[in-house]
Amino acid sequence: MNGVDQALGAVSRALDQLPSEFMKFLVPTAGTYNCRSVAGSSARSMHAYGAAIDLNVTHADYWRWSKNASAPIWENRISIEIVRTFEQHGFIWVGYWYHFDGMHFEYRPELLPDESRP
Ligand SMILES: [Zn+2]
Repeated sequence: MNGVDQALGAVSRALDQLPSEFMKFLVPTAGTYNCRSVAGSSARSMHAYGAAIDLNVTHADYWRWSKNASAPIWENRISIEIVRTFEQHGFIWVGYWYHFDGMHFEYRPELLPDESRP
């Protein structure tokens, strides 16, 4: 729906062009479609709509896993090249947020500035 399949395909092809050292962040993914709520919430996750993907959890940071989850201190190991690749194809990165989730990307081109839209 809304071209998310084509956008994710374009992201995948672009990520395949990155140097091999980036693959540890990408493979294996932690999944895309999963009909569930956001962890700790009753709100429906974007995974439930098939519009989100989680990268490799082993090399990502998540506020719920931080030392002080009640006042998380931002952490990130995902490279900016990966983030920019997703953004170029209409995905937002939840690694930017106060409640950061560095593995999580959502297809939300309407939230990106016009110059970043695919
Ligand atoms: Zn996710």
